[in-house]
Amino acid sequence: MLILKEKLSSMKCVICKIGTTYKDKASFTVEKDGAFLVFSNVDADVCDNCGEAYFSETTARKLQTKAGEEFRKGKEIELVKL
Ligand SMILES: [Zn+2]
Repeated sequence: MLILKEKLSSMKCVICKIGTTYKDKASFTVEKDGAFLVFSNVDADVCDNCGEAYFSETTARKLQTKAGEEFRKGKEIELVKL
């Protein structure tokens, strides 16, 4: 599940409603027609209780654009380190 928010700042987790988020790195996966592209080491806010990762809209848009380029090259599964 992908959740986007405007600004990265500590907030209450909307998934478990218990934890709060802290700045960390997480993997961001883009799926298109059965192909997957995984970006690792992406800036995110991660819940200290359930581990759900939140990405900023700017980050998500940037990675989705990048993924679109990779998919056009015909890649099916790729791990991209930032
Ligand atoms: Zn949580």
